Amino acid sequence: MPKLPDSQAWRWTVIGVVAAVVVVVVGALTGHIRRADDVDCTRVKCVALTFDDGPGPFTDRLLQILKDNDAKATFFLIGNKVAANPDGAKRIVDAGMEVANHTWEHANMTTIPPELIPSQLSKANDAIKSATGVTPTLYRPAGGLSNDAVRHAAKQLGMAEILWDVIPFDWINDSDLAATTYMLKTQIRPGSVVLFHDTYSSTVDVVYQFIPVLKANGYHLVTVSQLLGPREPGSSYGGRENGPPANDIRDIPPADIPTLPNTPSPKPMPNFPITDIPGQNSGGPQ
Ligand SMILES: [Zn+2]
Repeated sequence: MPKLPDSQAWRWTVIGVVAAVVVVVVGALTGHIRRADDVDCTRVKCVALTFDDGPGPFTDRLLQILKDNDAKATFFLIGNKVAANPDGAKRIVDAGMEVANHTWEHANMTTIPPELIPSQLSKANDAIKSATGVTPTLYRPAGGLSNDAVRHAAKQLGMAEILWDVIPFDWINDSDLAATTYMLKTQIRPGSVVLFHDTYSSTVDVVYQFIPVLKANGYHLVTVSQLLGPREPGSSYGGRENGPPANDIRDIPPADIPTLPNTPSPKPMPNFPITDIPGQNSGGPQ
């Protein structure tokens, strides 16, 4: 007859394993154990940078900057651009970023025929899923223009709307980085969702030089989902305007801000291809 394990040792092993399992399960359920790349935005300052209208020719440079800074961000992608450039969309996910839906063709969702609203969302999701393997649950309508019909269609698709808290007008300030930076400096506060467009090389420049400012001010750069957590389908977050200045950001020594590569900023990229639904261009790059 084989010798049974020493009963005392066996008992303590079981107790140890059970205790470890309890610690992990309770920790996970209460949020005390998190992935290494996760942060608790209820305890530290977080900001969610978001980039609309891509993927575009400057997206890869932006991804490298974000990766170099251990920063996360959320990209609201235009469906037909993803369909035309699936590898570009895939690289966003491969870089650890969140992808979300910015409609199929950047139409004004509040004025297109209502029967076209669901397909603007579903076609973009299909393209993003096909390119990246990820099905977005967040969307941002072109121009932030939305209404009950849009949110109802989104709810049917299990999607939540994300607008923004800070709009630095990066497309208007394409040749004036200081103006965009001023808006960021005065408007960002803990928990802000910030609207950018990675269709502008100048926006990438701004982000390159402003990330060190954010980090020196104690901000963690996270995705929208990391910042806000799960969103109720059909709900809407944020608005279309800046609020009163927060003035939460202090300057850092100029020497701590990286100099830009000595390359002229190319002309801003148009939203291309823009909607071909007659008269339904949203009227701007938002
Ligand atoms: Zn847009």
